Order: sequence, then structure tokens, then C-alpha cells
Amino acid sequence: MAKKTMNRHEMPIGSIIKDPGCSMQYETGGWRNLKPVHDNKKCTNCLLCWIYCPDGCIKVKDGKIAEFDLKYCKGCGICAEECPDKVKAIQMVEDKK
Ligand code: SF4
Ligand code: SF4
Repeated sequence: MAKKTMNRHEMPIGSIIKDPGCSMQYETGGWRNLKPVHDNKKCTNCLLCWIYCPDGCIKVKDGKIAEFDLKYCKGCGICAEECPDKVKAIQMVEDKK
């Protein structure tokens, strides 16, 4: 049975992860101030953002960007930075949650 997930307020001080292989339990999306907004019309589906996302929260279906999992996206902006300059299909915007 899957363990309950934890948000940043429920994590131990220093966000120390004591158990290996448990990243699914930590909702890193709770850290986010910015969120990625993806423009399907501009996107060339080169998948660079998918390769570079450190949290594996960009979902691909049939070789195309399908969605951004905001439960785990921590808003680092790496995807937007790595999206080619000629395309710039991802904008980081303030996340008012
Ligand atoms: S902002 Fe960071 S964590 Fe979120 S989708 Fe982009 S690369 Fe991944
Ligand atoms: S890096 Fe940019 S163009 Fe490439 S798949 Fe991601 S959003 Fe689309």
C-alpha cells in the first residue's frame, strides 16, 4: 500500500529524506512560487525540457509533451531555460495558490 504523501509543512526540519526510494511521498510542488505555462502551438516537441526537468514531472505521450505535473513541479524554471531560444514555448509565471 502506498504511503501518505507529505507537503513541505509536514517534512522533518531541513527536509531530510530518511528513507531511500521515497520521492513519490514528497510533494515538491508545495515549494513552488513560479509555475511553467506551456504553449502547444509554439512547442516543437524536441523534448529537451523533459530531459532536463529534475523532478520528472513533464509527461510525454506519443512523443509529445502531454502535461506538467504541478504536484511535483517545484518551479525551478530549468524547462523554460532549456527550451530553445527560437521556440521559447514555456513561460514561468507567478503561481498564486
Ligand atoms: S519548473 Fe522545474 S520542476 Fe517544474 S517542470 Fe520545469 S524543470 Fe520541471
Ligand atoms: S523544450 Fe520547448 S520546444 Fe522542446 S519540447 Fe519542451 S516546450 Fe517543446
